[in-house]
Amino acid sequence: MVVNLAGAKAIAERTLGAAAMADDMIYLEYGRTGIGAGIISGGKLMHGATHAAGELGHTHMIEEGPACKCGSFCCLQAIAGAAAIQTRIRKAIADGGGSELLALAGGDPPNVSGWMILSAAKVGDKACAAIVEQASKSFGVRPSQSGESLQSFGSRSGSAPFSLQGKVC
Ligand SMILES: [Zn+2]
Repeated sequence: MVVNLAGAKAIAERTLGAAAMADDMIYLEYGRTGIGAGIISGGKLMHGATHAAGELGHTHMIEEGPACKCGSFCCLQAIAGAAAIQTRIRKAIADGGGSELLALAGGDPPNVSGWMILSAAKVGDKACAAIVEQASKSFGVRPSQSGESLQSFGSRSGSAPFSLQGKVC
């Protein structure tokens, strides 16, 4: 049986990490290549009938939106994934936006990181604020409440322990 990265990390978190042998848990992976989940129920990694359990990044979020690398449109990771955010930041900078962000990055766009985008949004960078707002809405959270809301997601899913791993840039 082949297990994807999020599934393998869910098993590791349950075995050696924060989930402490929980019977039910969800591990969320927010990585450079996509957004995924490892779902453990009854102590076992869920695969699903089509082996797509946990493919959270390809959940359709809106009616009309960007193309996804999977060939579909409007997937979560096409809207709120690291690559999508980086693309929007590059466009915003090319269009003359992101002045606060560029200041944080020392004027060098390749130095932009995820925390810089969040920091710039907090101090009023409109391009960064719009990007953070859209990504947050896609996850169903407000930026300042993301941890709390993700815990609620886990609780609604019947999973008490919850683990989140990843970074934007
Ligand atoms: Zn997709």
